[in-house]
Amino acid sequence: MILIVAEHAGGKLGKSTLEMVTAARESGREGPITLLVLGQGVASVAKEAAAVADQVLVADLPGLAQYNAEVWAAATAQIAQEGEASTVIIGGSRSGREYAPRVAVKLDAPYLEDATKLSSNGAALQAQRYTYLARVTETVEADGLVVVTVKPGSFAPASPAAAAGEEYDVELTLPASRVEVTGKSVEKSSRVALTEADVIVTGGRGVGSPENFSAYVEGLADAIGAGVGATRAVVDAGWRPYAEQVGQTGKTVQPKAYIALGVSGAVQHLSGMGKSKHIIAINKDADAPIFKVADYGIVGDVNAIVPALIEAAKQ
Ligand code: FAD
Repeated sequence: MILIVAEHAGGKLGKSTLEMVTAARESGREGPITLLVLGQGVASVAKEAAAVADQVLVADLPGLAQYNAEVWAAATAQIAQEGEASTVIIGGSRSGREYAPRVAVKLDAPYLEDATKLSSNGAALQAQRYTYLARVTETVEADGLVVVTVKPGSFAPASPAAAAGEEYDVELTLPASRVEVTGKSVEKSSRVALTEADVIVTGGRGVGSPENFSAYVEGLADAIGAGVGATRAVVDAGWRPYAEQVGQTGKTVQPKAYIALGVSGAVQHLSGMGKSKHIIAINKDADAPIFKVADYGIVGDVNAIVPALIEAAKQ
């Protein structure tokens, strides 16, 4: 089987899980696509998972109420071993990259990190990934059982499978963890997360100032229920946090619509959003590279155009 560890939050399957299902379908590896749901009170997640996978393994246990690297690694390795997995796919989130190497060690398997593309080369699993500050794309491969993490936003979210997969409860022997989570504070934001957003409004240096960014980029995003992105120029200038950076050294996104305001369209930016379904750009320079990838473009000043768009969206 191809074992995927589902990422979920608040009783909902994460978009990254659907992306991992696509990665599994494209990998050409043997066996049914199997989603492993770890957590407590995860019945709704398992149900969603069954729509896209061949089978779903559910471990609904009090010991899995909180993410913990030692416990997640032990649980994943145990299921991979018992199910004779050909491949273990884990999300390239911070937590995923924390426990995936531990799974590889437990299984004595090779580990490929941050894949942006997966395929088979005979018996080997082949992965593409960025290296050298994303200036180089390298292809790596490994035989046999492989543990791989997938860079969020690199694969299109999977559509539902032809038939719903079967759900099975699994028994697990969980280790006592040496690390205790003593607190958690969730950032309160009514805005959709960048990697989960269907629509993203991104601001570049052309927006002019942090104040304009808040008024126009955040203003438009809030008016249409979109996520907010930024270019590296804007992040380096300290206008916006790194978490919002889109591009080779930031997040990779694939929304249904990507609205770029005052963004030039440098190659390092395009590599993080070029797979978006529809790209809409506003830039005062008709020769800006962003217009080469844009489906719709307005040549003009963002400061003049965006307030009118926000007004129209509010109505
Ligand atoms: P600029 O290139 O300065 O473009 C501003 C645009 O705004 C221009 O096209 C201009 O015509 C337009 N403009 C100006 N005023 C207005 C106005 N009033 N109305 C409308 N349009 C206006 N970049 C990223 O974004 N993400 C990355 O992850 C990333 N990684 C990188 C990694 C490496 C190794 C390197 C070398 C570079 C990386 N970069 C990345 C930087 C990238 O090369 C560009 O410098 C950056 O994307 C430019 O950001 P920008 O479009 O905001 O700014």
